[in-house]
Order: sequence, then C-alpha cells, then structure tokens
Amino acid sequence: MTTSFSNLNLAEPLARAVAEMGYETMTPIQEQAIPVVLQGKDVMGAAQTGTGKTAAFALPLLQRMMKHENASTSPARHPVRALVLLPTRELAVQVAEQVELYAKHTNLRSTVVFGGMDMKPQTLELKKGVEVLVATPGRLLDHIEAKNTVLNQVEYVVLDEADRMLDIGFLPDLQRILSYLPKQRITLLFSATFSPEIKRLASSYLQDPVTIEVARSNATASTVEQHFYAVSADDKRRALHQILKTRGMKQAFVFVNSKLGCARLARSLEREGLKTTALHGDKSQDERLKALEAFKKGDVDLLVCTDVAARGLDIKDVPAVFNFDVPFNAEDYVHRIGRTGRAGALGLAVSFASSSDQRLVADIEKLIKTKIELEPMEFDEDQPRIKEQGRINDGRRMYREGGAEDAQPGVEAPRERTERRERREHAPHQQRQAAARDPFFDKPYESSLPVEAQPAWEAAAKSGASRSSVSANIKPKKKVAALFKTTA
Ligand code: AMP
Repeated sequence: MTTSFSNLNLAEPLARAVAEMGYETMTPIQEQAIPVVLQGKDVMGAAQTGTGKTAAFALPLLQRMMKHENASTSPARHPVRALVLLPTRELAVQVAEQVELYAKHTNLRSTVVFGGMDMKPQTLELKKGVEVLVATPGRLLDHIEAKNTVLNQVEYVVLDEADRMLDIGFLPDLQRILSYLPKQRITLLFSATFSPEIKRLASSYLQDPVTIEVARSNATASTVEQHFYAVSADDKRRALHQILKTRGMKQAFVFVNSKLGCARLARSLEREGLKTTALHGDKSQDERLKALEAFKKGDVDLLVCTDVAARGLDIKDVPAVFNFDVPFNAEDYVHRIGRTGRAGALGLAVSFASSSDQRLVADIEKLIKTKIELEPMEFDEDQPRIKEQGRINDGRRMYREGGAEDAQPGVEAPRERTERRERREHAPHQQRQAAARDPFFDKPYESSLPVEAQPAWEAAAKSGASRSSVSANIKPKKKVAALFKTTA
C-alpha cells in the first residue's frame, strides 16, 4: 500500500511545501505515524534516519499547530509549542532545516539551538518567539537557565534518536528538560532500537503510546550494493583511487576509525589530487559545518570522516561509502553505509579488509545476517602503486592510532537565517523525485538487544553521572514517576 500525501488533507501551505519537496507517496513510517500523531496520540517509533522519519513527525505537528498560526510580530504570540530534542549538532541542524522547509509557507517559526558556539545569536532568535524549537539537550538547558526561553506552553515533544541520546549520557538532561514541560502534551519517541532502557524511558514519559515499527534495526538497505575487498593496508589508497576511477564516482564518504587517521588520509588524498575534506571530532564545530557544506555543495569530492559523521547525516545522493577501515563495531557498519542508498536511491558501499580484520568482518556478517564474500582486488596496470610517505608505512597503525573517535554531543555552529535561505536555494529539493519503493522500509523491526540487559542509563544514574554545570537557576527535578503516568 502506498498512500499519497493528498489523502492527508494537510493545510494548504504544508501540502504546497510537500509538493515542492517532490514527495508523492508516503514512506511506511509516514503512512503509519502521521495519522496517529494527527489524532493526538503518543508514539513510540522504531525507525532509523533515512526512512522519512522527520516528515513523519514534523508534518502532523505543524498541521496541529496551524490553529496557532499568526503573523503578529509580538514574541508573546509565538511561544514554543513543539520541542524536538536530538543528540548532536549535525542532526539538530538537519532536522531544523527540514522543519523550516515544511513550514516555509506558514507563519509558524522555528529555530535550532546547540552547544559549542556563542549563545547570543540563538538567544536573539529565541527571544523573537518560535513555535518549533529544535535543540540538543545541554544547550537547551543553558538557555532555560539563562531564561532565554520558557517551555510552559509546549504541547508536543519529540525525542529523536533516543537510543543515541541515552548512549551519550543525556538521560539526566532529558529528565530535567521534561520536568519543565506541561504534563498534558503529546510525546513522540523515535529510536533505532527498542532496548530495555528505551522501553523504560517510554514507560516513564509516554502515555499509552502507539508503537510503530517499520525498519529492522540492523538491516542494510537493499538499494546498497556492498563489496568487501581483501586489500593490504598499504594498498588501500590505490584501491580507492581505482574504484573511484573505474566506477566514475563523483562523490563519496570515506570512513576511518580514528581522528588522526582521518586527518592524515584526507591530507594524503588531497596531495594525490582528490578534492578532499575531513570531518572528525577534533575539528571545531565551525570547521565541521563548513566541511559538510562544502561536500553538500559539491566543492569537495571526498569527505573523509570518522563515525561522528556516521549517524543520521542526510546528505542526499552520496553515491558511495568507503570503509577505508573496517569499523570496530559492527553496528557502525550499518550506520556508515546508511549514508548511501537513502530513501530508495541506489548506492555503493565498499569496505577494505586486511588480513587482521577477519574478526571484524565476521561480526558484520553476523549482524547483517548476510554472507560476506571477500573479493580479491585486482589492480589495473595504469593504477600506480602509491608510495607511502615518511612515517606512514604501517597502514594499520596509521589509521588506527589516536584512539576511538569521541563524538561530542550537543555542540553545533550557528546558522543564520540568511545562510539557511542560501542553502535552500542550493538545495535540490525542488527537483527531488519521489523515492522508489524500498523493501527496507517494510521489514519488521527486530531488536538486537537482549530484553533483560542492564539499562546503561540506570547504571549511569546510580553512579551519579550527570551534567556537571547545572545552574542554581534550575530547581531540583521532581520525581519523574510523580509527574507522568507510567504504563504497565
Ligand atoms: P529522514 O529519515 O527524515 O532523515 O529523511 C531521509 C530523506 O528522505 C530526506 O532527504 C527526506 O527529504 C526524504 N524524504 C522524506 N520523506 C519522503 C517521501 N515521502 N518521499 C521521498 N523522499 C522523502
């Protein structure tokens, strides 16, 4: 069953925005979630990014908010009515961009706040009044403490990528934020997995939620062609050059396992004539946003990145993802290759495995429940062997040193409205074709975690792990159970 957006009877400004995006039929998460949210019910959705999840919550929330729409310039007439919380600055920016596109023909206002940058521009936006506030939890608390925003008129809350927020340790911040909100509200929780801790979070904060499950947690999209090549560490760059050339690839993400390896590989590829930029956690938020923008605009061909970029970034039409290093965690493989083949488009995922990666490849095989054939890499005669430079001759050490990437949550650089407008003009949304139907969307969801597993956030809470810089302006959190109805 594919349902057209026209069946939804969306308000004309929203329907027009959807039509301009080029969407014709709804994705499964949209088909299931939009009617439920329109009815005012809480939702617990198992869905990954790339499934059309943002529109699944943003469109019905905007529709329900249309009754408050007004053209007044008074901030008091534009209180925050919907709060969308996300774990990272990149995801917050991405969701805010989509919300702005859907709301562009309405008088509903939206903005985004995230950490790692000056609060002033965000404060100015907040003080003008916004109906939809997209935020990372830490920075939102800073604004609450500074009394830059009040949340007492919030009617809708979206906890997006909830599993990731818990992984990062945001639970205390989330609880604190939720304690500021009216009890009467609609809460939507989206998560890639329904782990025990997510179920507990839902039972504390959601009221009789409708469960929507559309994507299997560890599935890879059927539209992604996957290859694993047996390549020695020394030959990986040569292999990358050859595949790019023979496939006529314009752009690709290249994943490595460490920040240091990321920076070095980007420099080497740049020297070898490829327009390359690096995206990793040691870059400032400004550099990271610039790197993403340069890639989105097509100013660079290769985005060499660590797993900080792996989850949730929706860069349209990335034709290929290379795993220059096989990821340490099999789940990162699924997230990495999820950058390509999005929303039904075709994609290519190539992994370079050296002999010492056997165990990691076996872990991926187990997770995606697919036999992986390690293919030999045959080099063309005209593909010269790339000489290793100076100290970089043990490829494995080169790309693995520096430790695991540390994704910094909640910090993001500012985006002024003008910048967003420019980006909108660059955005190819207007020409977007309706995505082909992808069976990935229809597979039943399966949690990969044992139900009895010890919830990580409970352990964190017991050990007292919490946000260190909570201002005295914040009143102690009331007991959650006393605030919200718990469901059995
Ligand atoms: P999301 O899962 O929200 O990150 O969305 C993934 C991508 O799918 C985004 O580029 C959306 O603009 C696009 N998208 C969302 N809904 C649809 C739809 N119904 N038809 C085609 N593309 C869509």
